[in-house]
Amino acid sequence: MVDFAAIEKKWQDLWEKEGVFQASVKKNKKKFFLTVPYPYTSGPLHIGHGRSYTIGDILARYYRMLGYNVLFPMAAHVSGTPVASISKRIEEGDKKTIQLYREYVSLYEKDPEKVKEILESFKEPENVANFFAERIKNDLKLLGCSIDWRRFFRTNERYYNRFVEWQFKKLNSKGLLKQGSYPILYCLSCENAVGEDDIKGGDEIKASVMELQLIKFELEEEEGTYLVASTLRAETIFGVTNLWVNPKDELVKIQIESEKWLVSEASLTKLEKQGRDFKVLEKVQARGLIGKYVKSPIEGRKLLILPADFVDPDFGTGVVYSVPSHAPYDWVALREFRENKIYEEYGIPEDEVLDIAPISLIRVPNFGEHPAIEICEKMGVRSQKETEKLEEATQTLYREEYYNGVLKEICGQFAGMKVAEAKEEVFKFLEQRGLATKMYEVSALEKPVRCRCGGKVIVAVLKDQWFLDYKRKEWKELARRC
Ligand SMILES: [Zn+2]
Repeated sequence: MVDFAAIEKKWQDLWEKEGVFQASVKKNKKKFFLTVPYPYTSGPLHIGHGRSYTIGDILARYYRMLGYNVLFPMAAHVSGTPVASISKRIEEGDKKTIQLYREYVSLYEKDPEKVKEILESFKEPENVANFFAERIKNDLKLLGCSIDWRRFFRTNERYYNRFVEWQFKKLNSKGLLKQGSYPILYCLSCENAVGEDDIKGGDEIKASVMELQLIKFELEEEEGTYLVASTLRAETIFGVTNLWVNPKDELVKIQIESEKWLVSEASLTKLEKQGRDFKVLEKVQARGLIGKYVKSPIEGRKLLILPADFVDPDFGTGVVYSVPSHAPYDWVALREFRENKIYEEYGIPEDEVLDIAPISLIRVPNFGEHPAIEICEKMGVRSQKETEKLEEATQTLYREEYYNGVLKEICGQFAGMKVAEAKEEVFKFLEQRGLATKMYEVSALEKPVRCRCGGKVIVAVLKDQWFLDYKRKEWKELARRC
């Protein structure tokens, strides 16, 4: 049996002794510099790191073989907020975090007393960063990465900070920075903007900022008070038949400028962080609103407020308007409401419920009068609980209608317009009349979206933040030439 470990050690020791990966100035040689994003110091390396750094290493070795003078440096990314939150949780005695870090430290230290001591020291963030920075360096050496270790540093070192400052000043002097207020992903615990790397499973769940259209429905018996519904499809307002609230939810009445809004409690933090100024007036049980009426914003039609379990209080305002002709969720919820005689529980007269008829407002090829009903029947969707099928039905229909749909006569001045255009045009029409506004929500393949620190990620609009103007053409060109 070949002793690979011994062979590996022999060569790695020799590389180190001879300094074969140390890049010094050699005037007669062509230069090649590469860098792979430095690993975080909030934990040990994982298999994905092995892959990334091996790719970098292959490139470095390849160019050396081509005769280049290759510089491959490495650093430890001392990511402030994640490291600080680990210390905080260990300090607070959070069992899960302590167990996780006991496992991490035990990868390197076998003596349980020593492990305990190290864990204790982790209450100080710097110790977490230092511990893992050293282990990471050693692990990359064991991987055989051809790095010039003389240049190893941590990103919290003063001279590196100065380098980053210099970089920003340089970019600014070239006009590549701009200041503004834009919606960004934001961690409520760190109170900071978060990017893909800061989000748990960020590269898989693809979190991004989504714009929601909020439409106001005035309560019939309370002038100036609105149930504010969120949607992605303002153009469907012409087909609204009722509103949905989750009967288990508690809504909050807020004073916002001269209006009173009813929205879910979960939406308040988002509205606040998105720059809305409001005052909380009182809590209102969603259940108590069921069976009451609101007015549709354009035609002033009377619409019932009904219960639906699919309404997520943590999405948008937690209030949804129903367009059963074009939205599979709405159709299924309406049918369940009728078939299971749920209206009896709320004392809503049967004839009023049976009066609710789907209103068709979009003409779309390959579908008849009520596309949502058709697609639900075709896919055999019968319950709001069949979320996977409902998501698929919704996506399919949305795509069809967005690209190929045209608004019908019932949409008044918007009749004949393509859905893709009408979505914004109808919204603008409502907005100009004070009947609609915007809000931002997190869009992701999997929810809830969490920061690495465990905090909840929402969308915030921070005032006058600095942004890199990545859209600039010349800059993109320059990057391509590099
Ligand atoms: Zn966080």
